[in-house]
Amino acid sequence: MKFLNHFSLSKDLRDSKIIEKELSKLTKKNNYNFKIFFLIDDNVVTCKDVVFFYETNNIYSDLLEKNNFAYIGKKAKTIFLSSFVSKEKLSFLNKSNILEYRNIREVLFSNNREISSLVSSGFQLMQWKKDNKFCGKCGFKNRFLSFENSMICSNQKCLKRIFPRINPTVIVNITYRDKILLARNRNWKKNLYSCLAGFCEFNESAEEAVERESFEETGVILKEIEYVFSQTWPFQNNLMLGFQAKAKKSEIIIDKHELEDARWFSYRDLVFSVNNKKLILPKKHSIARNLIFLWEERFKN
Ligand SMILES: [Zn+2]
Repeated sequence: MKFLNHFSLSKDLRDSKIIEKELSKLTKKNNYNFKIFFLIDDNVVTCKDVVFFYETNNIYSDLLEKNNFAYIGKKAKTIFLSSFVSKEKLSFLNKSNILEYRNIREVLFSNNREISSLVSSGFQLMQWKKDNKFCGKCGFKNRFLSFENSMICSNQKCLKRIFPRINPTVIVNITYRDKILLARNRNWKKNLYSCLAGFCEFNESAEEAVERESFEETGVILKEIEYVFSQTWPFQNNLMLGFQAKAKKSEIIIDKHELEDARWFSYRDLVFSVNNKKLILPKKHSIARNLIFLWEERFKN
């Protein structure tokens, strides 16, 4: 099975651990180049629809505040960082008015793998730093440990360690004979349908989460639940675990609190509806689309 890696860092970037406090020394030697992309809340600063990387050999330039950036990875002599930027600071960079900002979801799907994975990682690291300034146990300030991605409470009596939180989520391609089950939420854009998905709960295996989500949302009881592939997704720090399963019966009872609609599609229905713009499927690099691709393969051979 092929890997789904559009949003995960390539091995060379993941393997290039640098101690964050070492960064300034590298700058002094002046043989490294920093490439920094900027975030304004859920937006990424872009230039002509492409992610804008500010290049400098001075990590302590006015644009970066101490502790307000994240180290993502290194490739040859280039070090990639992400940082939040205020609109005021951005206007300093944007004298010729070529910079704008775009929602990160659009950026993730409209760039190549390397850029998408840098944005995904840099966004998650910055969100994690922002959301964990204080210890949840005693309320003292947390200190970032630069030799690994973790934090420690500054209260010597507490010293609670905090690691990046990853939330396992399941997504499943459910079939009944030659049909696939697709559903839509009320707040999605018109005609968009996808596979069923949901968070794993405490004390529940991923397979049990698949079984529960299917039954809760559509009343469909599953058999032959099989893991297929996974994908990292930066919102809510999801690790999406992709499954396929078969329905025991085709009857659907929709949970109207969760879903607006859920239907069985044959391959012909699906192709016809997509061609006639009656059905929009998830974006190309998403795990949902890849689970549907997997099912479509059966009819192409
Ligand atoms: Zn504490």
